[in-house]
Amino acid sequence: MRLGVTYNVYDGEELLEASARSVRAHAAHIVVVYQLVSNYGEPSRPGLELMLQSLLDRGIVDELLRVDPVDIPPGEARASVVSKDAPRSEVGNDPTFATLNEAFFLELKKREDGRRCCAAAGCSHFMSMDTDEFYLHDQLASLARMMEEPNPTTGRLPLASVATMRLLFKDPRWELLPQEDTFKVPVICVCDDAYPLKLLPNWQMVVDPTRRIDCAREDVLIVPRDTCEMWHMSFVRRDVSCKLRNTSNRANYGAVADSASDPASKFLRDFEAWQPHMTPIHPHPVWNNFYKSARVLSNHFDVDLDTCCDYCLRPKAPLRCARCQAVRYCDAGCQRYDWKTHKKKCGEGSAM
Ligand SMILES: [Zn+2]
Ligand SMILES: [Zn+2]
Repeated sequence: MRLGVTYNVYDGEELLEASARSVRAHAAHIVVVYQLVSNYGEPSRPGLELMLQSLLDRGIVDELLRVDPVDIPPGEARASVVSKDAPRSEVGNDPTFATLNEAFFLELKKREDGRRCCAAAGCSHFMSMDTDEFYLHDQLASLARMMEEPNPTTGRLPLASVATMRLLFKDPRWELLPQEDTFKVPVICVCDDAYPLKLLPNWQMVVDPTRRIDCAREDVLIVPRDTCEMWHMSFVRRDVSCKLRNTSNRANYGAVADSASDPASKFLRDFEAWQPHMTPIHPHPVWNNFYKSARVLSNHFDVDLDTCCDYCLRPKAPLRCARCQAVRYCDAGCQRYDWKTHKKKCGEGSAM
């Protein structure tokens, strides 16, 4: 197997290096598909491209692809990314697909652009990931082996695999419980132009609609938890409000997303105070009721949000601002670029 990995990046870039390291040993090619403006028109952090270039220079990723949000007009362009087998009821009964969420099309397009980069790099399989997703090395190795064993019923090799997730929340060591088994995430899939990523093919299970390849359900391998899980660092962020404002399933968060620009919003205040001995909180009302407790694990993926460069968000930045000691930088360059922003708050709260 020659495995490619494609990342969709807009925010959450402070997790990208650790996430890419978690899959690097298995990946022959890692491509980062990024945008400088979110699907909702908000610019990315100014240091994003500098940090991505650093990942490329250090061999942590292999290719960068910038895409800009485009309006995908109803009609043929939209129809081309919807499987012919998608149930009409699920896609709005509208032949132009005009009522489907624009953000889903853009997410899907970026994932498919990344899949094509993996194909061009000669990959036989690929994984489409976000920056807050992590895999244990041995688990991914087991899954890769399973993908090369024929299905005992059909005699065919699997075309795709799906796993369940563990939810790490706020801190890279804090897991919300109970574990949730309904939602699945596609992991390793074949990288073949005959099986493109398409919207809403019916896999008869709950899966992110932007990550399904156009194949039949019987060719999808469902991976048990003890073989391989995706470790999802949801809301493990330097800036959680940015995630809430720009997530592609923003509609699910409703009022929380609308108040996310207000740092005093109730969710953000509760989030700031939340600790794993407390009752879990979640901005989505269903999950807010689902999670009952939390536990503290070890930091399997060496994620460290506290040492990120304040400009480019690269972890383990060695320098500190000499004046306030409160922020870190990779080098004098990052500090200089950041000064315009940082000078407004430098020294705040340091006069103890
Ligand atoms: Zn930096
Ligand atoms: Zn300072």
